[in-house]
Amino acid sequence: MKIILLGAPGAGKGSQAAKIVSDFGIAHVSTGDALRANIKAQTELGKFAKSFIDKGQLVPDDVVVKIVADRISQPDCEKGFLLDGFPRTVAQADALAKLTDVDYVINIDVDFDAIVNRISGRRMCVCGETYHVSTYDKDVCAKCGKPLYQRDDDNEATVQKRLSVYQEQTAPLIEYYSARGKLVTVDGNKSIDAVYADVKDVLNGNR
Ligand SMILES: [Zn+2]
Repeated sequence: MKIILLGAPGAGKGSQAAKIVSDFGIAHVSTGDALRANIKAQTELGKFAKSFIDKGQLVPDDVVVKIVADRISQPDCEKGFLLDGFPRTVAQADALAKLTDVDYVINIDVDFDAIVNRISGRRMCVCGETYHVSTYDKDVCAKCGKPLYQRDDDNEATVQKRLSVYQEQTAPLIEYYSARGKLVTVDGNKSIDAVYADVKDVLNGNR
């Protein structure tokens, strides 16, 4: 079983990925992890990729594709794999199609306003507690009394920016896989377990 998982930042892609790979016994292929593993092992690809990262540049598509090709040819991918963070562009999707056929492209569809509201309303404490302004209106931690703070990345403008970058990159992929009859959209505006029940239905061929 070969799966691509698409979902905006904050859509809960990580939780779904973990459940899928454990239930279906397939490998979790993260492009970021594969890249870091190549750099650490100082493979030719790793050294080449690092030369771009060291200059503060993006690793070119063809290098990323080679890293993915190498990763999915490893024994743990024999039963299948879930691709996380790849493809990000139509060019990468075309390159992937030359390597292998995917069975499902699952798009976790979420309401962007809900994500912005959830993330931008998040408040943290140094002790590890987290709160949301909709359910907690004090500015000190209920557990330890320390002042709550908002993570830099959690402000509304940053979240909006991340979502619009995602939207721009991913919209063409959604069209691409939809045209090829691979795309399945699940409603991501539900609890993790409810979303996963839908994902499981898809993967079991029930919808
Ligand atoms: Zn605290």
